[in-house]
Order: sequence, then structure tokens, then C-alpha cells
Amino acid sequence: MKILVVEDELKTGNYLKQGLMEAGFVVDLVRNGEDGLHSALTEAYDLVILDVMLPGMDGWAVLQGIRKSGKDLPVLFLTARDQVDDRVRGLELGADDYLVKPFAFAELLARVRTLLRRGSKGKESEYLRAADLDLDLMRRRVTRAGKRIDLTAKEFALLELLLRRQGEVLPRSLIASQVWDMNFDSDTNVIEVAVKRLRAKVDDDFELKLIRTVRGMGYVLEVPE
Ligand code: CA
Repeated sequence: MKILVVEDELKTGNYLKQGLMEAGFVVDLVRNGEDGLHSALTEAYDLVILDVMLPGMDGWAVLQGIRKSGKDLPVLFLTARDQVDDRVRGLELGADDYLVKPFAFAELLARVRTLLRRGSKGKESEYLRAADLDLDLMRRRVTRAGKRIDLTAKEFALLELLLRRQGEVLPRSLIASQVWDMNFDSDTNVIEVAVKRLRAKVDDDFELKLIRTVRGMGYVLEVPE
């Protein structure tokens, strides 16, 4: 899941980026409205976190730009002023939710997850499954044969990607961009190590192996016939 953060304050922006990355999201941070709108419209994000008070083009204008484009992209806006006017205005302009600064990170994370779930329009299940492997998107929990498996945020994101695209061979370059936000030239050893660790947790204790390496191509998660 990829999130765009539009925030001009250095400290808040870095804090958001760091926290969201630790929670397993891929995060792009931009520091002004023009870049924010451009990124929101040209790249594939699952959510935008938008500060209202920005130099130049403000958050309202960015929000209007996104809505005018017709792009179905959830927007959570951040307002420094606890004013009813701001909140009403934001929601009228098509924001999906708002948070008043300062906020607790846990609160932000909860809102983000709710919006991402809502973004899937309820069509999608809150669970991803393959054989006896279950991934609970809402509670961020993984079980196999009813047994809890503890994963790091990156391992969770990797497993989520493999499960969403079950049966598809995913090239390392795709995994790198979706889970680590790095390009193919980066050290792909990171991916091999992560897949190995994930496998140890998900497959090692079970007869049915779900994650497979396709030599020279990438990785696939599928239920063997
Ligand atoms: Ca600001």
C-alpha cells in the first residue's frame, strides 16, 4: 500500500513518513501543494495525507484538484486549527476524514487503515487466504492452520502482495518497488533475505509449501495442485 504525504513542516513530515514506513507502508513525502497535486494525479497511491496549511497552493486547492480529476483516491487532511469551519470545508470539498494537529500517531494509523479499507469499497474481503494461510488486513495478523505467525511490517507487506497476486510470478523489481520503494538497481539481496525469512515463518513447519522461487523470474505464492 502506497501513501502520499503532503506536508511542508519538516519535523511533522519526517515523523509521518518514518511512522508509516515502520507500519509497513510505502511512503512518498512532498513538501508543497504543487508537487502534491502532481504526484497524486500521476502516480498510483492508495491514500493521500494532506496538510491544509501549505505555502503556495494550499491543501484546499490540492484537494479540489484531486476531486476535479475524478480520481477515486481517499484523502485524509490535517488541520492545525481546531475550527469547525475548516473541518466542514474539508469534508465539503471531498476529503474523506480529517485529523486536528497535534495528533497521536496511533490515532492517525487507525484512521489510515479505516480509509484504506473503505477505499476498497467493501467489495474486497478483509482477509486474504491461500489454503490454511490467513491474513487479516484489519488486525494485521497472520495465521496458518489457526496458529499465529508473527511478522515484521515488511514481511507482512511482502506476504500481502504475494497473496493479493496469488498465482502470479512477481519479479524482484516489482516486489522492490511495491514493498521497499526502491528500484531494480538497488540491492535485491534484501528481497531474497526477506523472502527466505518469510518462508521460514510461513512454510517451514508445514508440509504444503505456498511460496516458491521461480528461477530467474521471481517469486510466486500459490496452492500447489
Ligand atoms: Ca503546514
